[in-house]
Amino acid sequence: MIRLHVPQPLSAGAALAPTLDQSRYLTQVMRLKAGDALLVFNGVDGEWRCVVAEVLKKGVILRCEALARPQTTGPDLELIVAVVKKARVETIVEKAAELGARRVRLALTQRTNADRVRLDRLDAIVEEAAEQTGRMDVPAVDEPARLSDILDAWDPARRLMFCDETGGQPAFAALRSAGEGPWAILIGPEGGFSPEEGERLRALHFTTTVSLGPRILRADTAAIAAMTIWQAAAGDWDR
Ligand code: SAM
Repeated sequence: MIRLHVPQPLSAGAALAPTLDQSRYLTQVMRLKAGDALLVFNGVDGEWRCVVAEVLKKGVILRCEALARPQTTGPDLELIVAVVKKARVETIVEKAAELGARRVRLALTQRTNADRVRLDRLDAIVEEAAEQTGRMDVPAVDEPARLSDILDAWDPARRLMFCDETGGQPAFAALRSAGEGPWAILIGPEGGFSPEEGERLRALHFTTTVSLGPRILRADTAAIAAMTIWQAAAGDWDR
């Protein structure tokens, strides 16, 4: 069944006005007409079974009928990724949404030389991915920020999985022994981290420095591999 993210309060009988783009998608792409059913979620009130109540020129009106699934949230995982080429950033945020990250933080590192980031486009990509994966929320994508500022304001309760291309502990075993709790995964730019950044990261008490194997992976591959290992070792894949 079609799933739509509509950030409006959801309750029995509630009338919803999706965006014009969403309305066009429902009526012109998915050919829904009045009376047809779909699922709607907003990241707070759970997933609701809705029907198309009206099809108007200015968009459709949906009516909430019944709660299909109560609200749940996935594991507390953030992905911090150095801004890389536009197409790769788009792939990375899409995969982060599919693989269950709650938040994507774009980092500006000493060797970052990347395109301008269109946050509205990245938000649309994670929303669509969330709709397709069945997850009950849409990950936040933060404005790019300097890695040094992100580390200066770090919440020590959150552990950091530092993916270090110069070497580290075997990732799966390191995560298994480090255990559950809020985590963040850090992936560097195409040029890698600078020696100063590497040194600072390895010295932080909340850092677990890991290797993703003997081959140097591109940033998007490394992000997908790291999130996969994290979900298998410390996330919700063995629940
Ligand atoms: N230019 C760098 C080099 O040649 O060493 C490669 C950087 S790599 C393309 C981008 C990021 O992916 C790295 O900063 C790191 O975070 C991650 N990465 C890639 N391969 C990795 C590996 N084998 N182990 C750990 N992290 C890796």
